[in-house]
Amino acid sequence: MNILVINCGSSSLKFQLIDSATEDVKASGLCERIGMDESCITYKPANGEKEKTVSPMPNHKEAIKLVIDALTNEKTGALKSLSEIDAVGHRLVHGGEKFNKSVIITDEVIKAVEECNDLAPLHNPANIIGINACRELMPNVPMVGVFDTAFHQTMPEKAYLYGTPYEYYEKYGVRKYGFHGSSHSFVSKRAAELAGKPYDACKTIVCHLGNGSSICAVENGKSVDTSMGLTPLEGLIMGTRSGDIDPGALEYIMKKEGISYADMMTILNKKSGFQGISGVSSDCRDVETAAKEGNKRAKAAMDVFFYRVAKTVGGYVAAMNGVDVICFTAGIGENDAHTREEVMKYFGYLGITIDLEKNKLRGEEVLISTPDSKVKVYVIPTNEELKIARETVALVK
Ligand code: AMP
Repeated sequence: MNILVINCGSSSLKFQLIDSATEDVKASGLCERIGMDESCITYKPANGEKEKTVSPMPNHKEAIKLVIDALTNEKTGALKSLSEIDAVGHRLVHGGEKFNKSVIITDEVIKAVEECNDLAPLHNPANIIGINACRELMPNVPMVGVFDTAFHQTMPEKAYLYGTPYEYYEKYGVRKYGFHGSSHSFVSKRAAELAGKPYDACKTIVCHLGNGSSICAVENGKSVDTSMGLTPLEGLIMGTRSGDIDPGALEYIMKKEGISYADMMTILNKKSGFQGISGVSSDCRDVETAAKEGNKRAKAAMDVFFYRVAKTVGGYVAAMNGVDVICFTAGIGENDAHTREEVMKYFGYLGITIDLEKNKLRGEEVLISTPDSKVKVYVIPTNEELKIARETVALVK
């Protein structure tokens, strides 16, 4: 089957066409600056060159039209016609407590997703716009929604409840939900395969470290805790997000700086983390380079990051009363040997040892722990699009 995977943001749209039989990517691309000047589409066929074209995209429907045009282009298209698309898999960010698994998209599902919009005001409406545009252009093609939050719906109450009045949970659904579910699910499953253990009898900790970062404890195939919360702001420090902070600090900073709550949230989401501590960049590579050159704030940012990753992993070892496999994935996790080495230094007490030569490999599946290490440590490239395609096939078949 040809599965079109769509990841729709407020002004961007990523897509991949995946052949479900071979799991090969037949074509991929990105629409940027939708609804703005100079919007452009980048298209890459499997065996061809990447091509970037500036093209007006006043809305998501126009963007999807351009995606379809690119996919069916006579010369470079991966398809002869639109009818060769068998199903569309959509990434959906927040399914609240309503969705604990992927679903075939219907009018009722869209309504239920809309009811979760308050929980993800930037992401869910954009996801729905993408779905509606696809439904208009491909009315007879089945569509599936795959939620970032669904994998974490197995968390026990003790992991997801906050210490706020219970009525906020009951009335407004204020609790930990967690994100990056497709990635945590994909990587933890692969980790069990690589370690030769049944998925339903394996304790795994997945460190998804990218521009947005989260860690997940997966016990017997189920998420039992994760570091992001009601929103993706909780947990580790990230490219521009603060992660955990004493809520009392917010009022203090707002008073001192004379800023509004909205400004405070912008600072926590867009001007904190690597960017905020280092003052150099939100990109881990730039911050590491500056740290090596002696920039103290850049070094502090990296040290805070390593320490928080290690503390979270340590917490999840306790939560599961042990761990069989630890995995690193996403931009930093897959590529940055220094981060992996520094984080794993905290785990000598668990009998974990890293093979520093193997750890130098980048962006490929590799066991980086030594044969005598008490816990296996892997680098496993994530593949959220493939996970979405697999879920889509499973539901439409
Ligand atoms: P992602 O959000 O998963 O695409 O990850 C993006 C982040 O990965 C970037 O902001 C970089 O900080 C980081 N990254 C990518 N390549 C490398 C690398 N070779 N070394 C360190 N960090 C990297």
